[in-house]
Amino acid sequence: MFDKLSISSKTEKILTKSLDESISVDEANYLMNIQGADLYPLLATADYLRNKIVGNDVTFINNCNINFTNICKVKCGFCAFGKDADDSEAYILDDDAILAKAQGAVQKGAHEFCVMGGVLPEADIEYYEHILSLLKDEYPDVMIHGFSPTMIKDACDVSGIDIVEGFERLKSTGLDTLPGTAAEILTDRSREIICPEKVSVAEWIDIVKTSHEVGIPGSATIMYGHVETLEERVEHIDIIRKIQQETHGFTEFIPMTFMHEYSPIFLEGQRNLGASGTEDLKLYAVSRLMLRDLIPNIQVSWVKMGFRFAQVVLTAGANDLGGTLGGDELSEASGAPDGVDASIETLDNMVKNLGRNPIERNSKYTEFYPVNI
Ligand code: SF4
Repeated sequence: MFDKLSISSKTEKILTKSLDESISVDEANYLMNIQGADLYPLLATADYLRNKIVGNDVTFINNCNINFTNICKVKCGFCAFGKDADDSEAYILDDDAILAKAQGAVQKGAHEFCVMGGVLPEADIEYYEHILSLLKDEYPDVMIHGFSPTMIKDACDVSGIDIVEGFERLKSTGLDTLPGTAAEILTDRSREIICPEKVSVAEWIDIVKTSHEVGIPGSATIMYGHVETLEERVEHIDIIRKIQQETHGFTEFIPMTFMHEYSPIFLEGQRNLGASGTEDLKLYAVSRLMLRDLIPNIQVSWVKMGFRFAQVVLTAGANDLGGTLGGDELSEASGAPDGVDASIETLDNMVKNLGRNPIERNSKYTEFYPVNI
């Protein structure tokens, strides 16, 4: 495959090996640093593996974000969304507003409510159970992908219960899947700079494993392009790989490139401009070579990359386009380049233009539907 290309012998050796088996941490670190003629063979290899593992379908979900509050007691250095309770822009959606958002989404055929927000001071487990019951009583067939490991740990602490009981109660009230947010970058060195008040690496791992053991699968994310090193990106993906080998609870892996423009750490002049385009492509391709079919679904965040570049990333190992979203105040606050609401037609066209097959899915990738335009 590579004999006609001017690539280095070491890159060729690793890529040839990757056709049959997962690459090591050292090999991944090497690939994260390649440049020039070695780049496209890496992308082509990741695309080949994607096709071998999941075929030519590109999935996405008709969903709706319900950002129930922007009040947050955790101050992350990268976040332009969270506000203090006394801020003039602070809000909490009441039951009627939550149901109105849900109703609008269901009228457009939504299969998922993605329920996210800030970490409300004093919110206990009953608070989150109430949101779940509110939505499930009205729309029992729509899956709820909701909350974050930090939120749930905080609610369990407020309620004086352990994480197992917390997840069991949320599951029985209607939580279908857990977003892999709050992972950011799983090294304590970087977390100390960008989100010192969030759960630690060990806590994140423990919370996510517990949710899988209780029977709540969910996504795994990485947010990169801020203060972390290339080695820390690989270290993060390797942690995700090891958790999945143990629990098989991750439904998808979602790389999220850092949106710097309105983030406190950028505005304070401390940090860089985020990852470059080739860094984004390498992150996706190396993820595919490390995760292979262990986590078959690798998702492109069009809301963070814009529609055009998201389409390119689909040729570098990714196979899922996320959701239509119907709004995403967190990304909007960070400066989403192409807005925060995609039509089914837009995603369908992106996929068909690549010569691939668009298909709608549910939150767990267990049900698939023809695209409903
Ligand atoms: S990222 Fe989440 S936890 Fe951190 S400040 Fe923003 S809303 Fe709060």
